[in-house]
Amino acid sequence: MPRPIYATIYPAAVAHNLSAAKQASAQSGANVWATIKANAYGHGIERIFSGLREADGLAMLDFAEAALVRSLGWQKPILMLEGCFSAEDYALAQALDLTVVVHHQAQIEWLLQAQLTQKINVYLKMNSGMNRVGFAPSRYQAAFDALKSAEQVESITLMTHFANADLPDGVAKPLQIFNQTTAKIMADFPQTQRSCSNSAAILQHPDAHFDWVRPGIMTYGGTPIGASSAASFGLMPAMSLHAQLIAIQELQAGDAVGYGSRFVATQSMRIGVVACGYADGYPRHAPDGTPVMVDGVVTRLVGRVSMDMLMVDLSPVAHAAVGSAVELWGAQIAIDDVASAAGTIGYELMCALAPRVPVNVAL
Ligand SMILES: *Cc1c(COP(=O)(O)O)cnc(C)c1O
Repeated sequence: MPRPIYATIYPAAVAHNLSAAKQASAQSGANVWATIKANAYGHGIERIFSGLREADGLAMLDFAEAALVRSLGWQKPILMLEGCFSAEDYALAQALDLTVVVHHQAQIEWLLQAQLTQKINVYLKMNSGMNRVGFAPSRYQAAFDALKSAEQVESITLMTHFANADLPDGVAKPLQIFNQTTAKIMADFPQTQRSCSNSAAILQHPDAHFDWVRPGIMTYGGTPIGASSAASFGLMPAMSLHAQLIAIQELQAGDAVGYGSRFVATQSMRIGVVACGYADGYPRHAPDGTPVMVDGVVTRLVGRVSMDMLMVDLSPVAHAAVGSAVELWGAQIAIDDVASAAGTIGYELMCALAPRVPVNVAL
């Protein structure tokens, strides 16, 4: 038989989570950009595609992914979150009917020089304090004016991205900067649309919802807010990772487990060896105590994670045997709990699922 490890992807959970995003932003009536960059946060665009149907648009940043979703039949808008990487990309954007972010001056110049047969929709991005991409507030109006008078431009949506939307008052300052900087544009052109919110802002900052929200992690059933579980927001995991026990060891007090002998038994105990390691995408930094479910019972990781195996405490699972089912993350073990034990976030674990892991799609 194949090595006993597999991931399962749940498009129905994606559909459920997108409707949760829609509901959370119902007050502003915002449209939803399902954010599917990084191959849908590691889930696989094609695998979750059926779950995206109700989204108003798809946001990503790789032109190959945009071409893929068009080839799959997606006819609604597509937003390129980093815009064009070269002047030539505008022709591609036009051919695929993409909406493109404009976040630096060269992108404006390429656009003004582009020979387009159709006008293009753009998102004008402001740097409201994250200092990653976007026009400084002092340059935003000029960038808007340049685009407004460009014959290549159909519509301009005003956009920013928050660095701290996961904090209770994390958007107050950037939102004030955004609102202040865009006040004249909104007065001159009151129909102008705006888009600011990632998952964290969708869930806790309704004042930032505006016309289009951009849920990423919540689409996949992960929490964007470390202190609150995804389940507390009514989200469902779109990925699970399962394996089996492939060996059992009986330890005596003083016996050590795995590389570096990090875990040492204080009494006699049984441990199970799971067919999952860091080469499958399980975080090597997971400490002793990281939750793992064996045969329906929550237990703990013991010892360092190896490339192809990890070990678990079978003390609470007397009936466990070779072949017992193990959930590394999924409906019972929140991916966010594994991530936080390992000092990272669910986003990283989703994206790191290794290509060698076989993947099923739940229908
Ligand atoms: C990734 C991304 C999002 C989605 O963020 P989440 O925290 O995953 O919801 C939204 N907007 C932009 C610009 C992004 O890059």
